[in-house]
Amino acid sequence: MNTFKKILVAIDFSESSDKAFRTALFMARTFEAHLLLLHVINEPVDMRGFYVPHISFDRLEEEIAEGAGKLMAQFCKNNLEGVSDYETLIVSGIPYQEIIQVAAQKDADLIVMGTHGRTGLDHVLFGSTAEKVVRKSPLPVLTVRLADA
Ligand code: AMP
Repeated sequence: MNTFKKILVAIDFSESSDKAFRTALFMARTFEAHLLLLHVINEPVDMRGFYVPHISFDRLEEEIAEGAGKLMAQFCKNNLEGVSDYETLIVSGIPYQEIIQVAAQKDADLIVMGTHGRTGLDHVLFGSTAEKVVRKSPLPVLTVRLADA
């Protein structure tokens, strides 16, 4: 039987990804796997030096990264007390691409994510990130749906 040694969970701080996280944590405990929490900062269109001067754009990026780091730290504090076998990663880019790429770079053997995210398009079966990861990932992907979504 296959076992999972490293589980990547994609976190966008939505209710749906919270539920995916709880499933990923349960699986990590069951398989004694390492848990990798990944958040992707949605890369803004590159407008450096066009709408805003270069310097303020750089500062904006720094503040966004700082904010994401704080959110992730708070998330871990709230949800991972007593758990040590985990790491967090924050990268910038297009979420579905980064999820697939980081999973490969980090040798994950399973990706766990919500069926929906922050866009709140509950009427569609899958959000666009979830759909693209499921369609393009060479690794197994476990999607978790909120019961009432
Ligand atoms: P979506 O397809 O955007 O509705 O989101 C579905 C799931 O993809 C979420 O529940 C998360 O697990 C994951 N996801 C979406 N956006 C991000 C992001 N920026 N960083 C990490 N995971 C994400």
